[in-house]
Amino acid sequence: APTETATPKRVLLAKPRGYCAGVDRAVVAVEKALEQYGAPVYVRKEIVHNKHVVETLSDRGAIFVDQTEEVPEGALVVFSAHGVSPAVHEEAAQRSLRTIDATCPLVTKVHMEAKRFARDDYDILLIGHEGHEEVEGTAGEAPDHIQLVDTAEDVDKVVVRDPSKVIWLSQTTLSVDETMVRVNQLKGKFPELQDPPSDDICYATSNRQTAVKTMAPSCDLVLVVGSKNSSNSVRLVEVALQSGAKASYLIDYAKEVDEAWLDGVSTVGVTSGASVPDILVMELLKWLGERGYGDVEEITTANETIAFALPKEVRQSRVR
Ligand code: SF4
Repeated sequence: APTETATPKRVLLAKPRGYCAGVDRAVVAVEKALEQYGAPVYVRKEIVHNKHVVETLSDRGAIFVDQTEEVPEGALVVFSAHGVSPAVHEEAAQRSLRTIDATCPLVTKVHMEAKRFARDDYDILLIGHEGHEEVEGTAGEAPDHIQLVDTAEDVDKVVVRDPSKVIWLSQTTLSVDETMVRVNQLKGKFPELQDPPSDDICYATSNRQTAVKTMAPSCDLVLVVGSKNSSNSVRLVEVALQSGAKASYLIDYAKEVDEAWLDGVSTVGVTSGASVPDILVMELLKWLGERGYGDVEEITTANETIAFALPKEVRQSRVR
């Protein structure tokens, strides 16, 4: 309309975004299990924390359950990318379940660290979000040696047996910056606190946060495609706001965008969590394009080439 002053409208698209190697592997593992063994294939917990992925796999014959005991004796069950505690493997064995473990190798790495430091009798401070499946799985490797540290108050509560034999580990999908804040609080209390042998926050989590940090200062609005229960996606909204985006929202689908969010917005940043298929981002770009935001510039801060081999049970080509 002639009365409107035209604000230049554009989209900055973060790269890397979306699927990480661990999510891709887990989703393909369920798809291959359905192909090779036929439906139903049970999946303990959401294979990855994304609504669209879970709905798509359900339509193809995957049955998502919360507990191992919901899987019929002898059936095939896939364990999710977030990992499971040894107790879950035992339950599955007791029910004679056939299992495919889609735990991300980078989560397994943290499990191995937990086991090793527990064997060496360390007190392990696991930084992570209370109630998250990954944290439950990791803590289950050494329940007698691990204490969960989520909030600053948790730091106050930590008691260790020997302050010279303490190590911190973490969930893979935390905010890099907030984790360092927590680590520094812990080091204030336990100066001899040891760092993990290698980063527990995974490459995908930190790369997606770096991309958002780079893009956010130029954005009036950052839209993060991802589900509410996806830890790394929720972190991207926080990072966007902390890095200078004027507003940021988490959405599962383009249709969830409230048009009022676009009022006066010139630059929209777009990214997605590690469990999000890029088709959902493409739908959002289309939706934005229809509202004048058709000019899209990709902001690349890293190129990811990492890929993981599939679980061995689904590695062969199709079985007849
Ligand atoms: Fe693995 Fe990181 Fe992806 Fe989680 S976010 S599945 S730890 S690569």
